Amino acid sequence: MELAGFDLRIHESRIRGLTRSLQRYLPTYHPEDFSSIRPWCGLRPCTPDGLPYVGRTRRWPNVIVASGHAMMGVSMAPITGTLVSELVSEETPSVDLSGLTTERFV
Ligand SMILES: Cc1cc2nc3c(=O)[nH]c(=O)nc-3n(C[C@H](O)[C@H](O)[C@H](O)COP(=O)(O)OP(=O)(O)OC[C@H]3O[C@@H](n4cnc5c(N)ncnc54)[C@H](O)[C@@H]3O)c2cc1C
Repeated sequence: MELAGFDLRIHESRIRGLTRSLQRYLPTYHPEDFSSIRPWCGLRPCTPDGLPYVGRTRRWPNVIVASGHAMMGVSMAPITGTLVSELVSEETPSVDLSGLTTERFV
């Protein structure tokens, strides 16, 4: 992962570093095994404070947002799913959502 804003350029040296270091953990792979694969990259959904956005929006209260999980979305999926289901069911969320509002940086 690289903190590069919206810069989607791929640095060959980073790719080389990845394919070389892989061998330490998976010795059957060699850097040349990846030579025919075209590298790609994407943007991670990071928020300025590193916390996700979970909750209804003020402007469109019928919209529920659950995003911005950065590097932890798989780990946080169970709690996020629980919170979304509570919001949809109009129950009190089991976690205080005031620090996760979608409008906190607007
Ligand atoms: C290689 C890799 C390995 C990972 N391994 C793990 C792991 O082991 N454990 C773990 O917990 N997490 C892991 N993650 C992270 C996890 O996949 C993410 O945290 C999770 O997918 C984020 O979910 P999200 O719903 O918050 O955001 P996303 O799934 O990114 O959803 C955001 C959506 O918003 C859309 N969008 C963005 N901007 C706009 C816009 N302006 N208007 C409209 N739509 C927009 C995007 O197209 C996207 O569909 C990994 C991620 C990667 C890439």
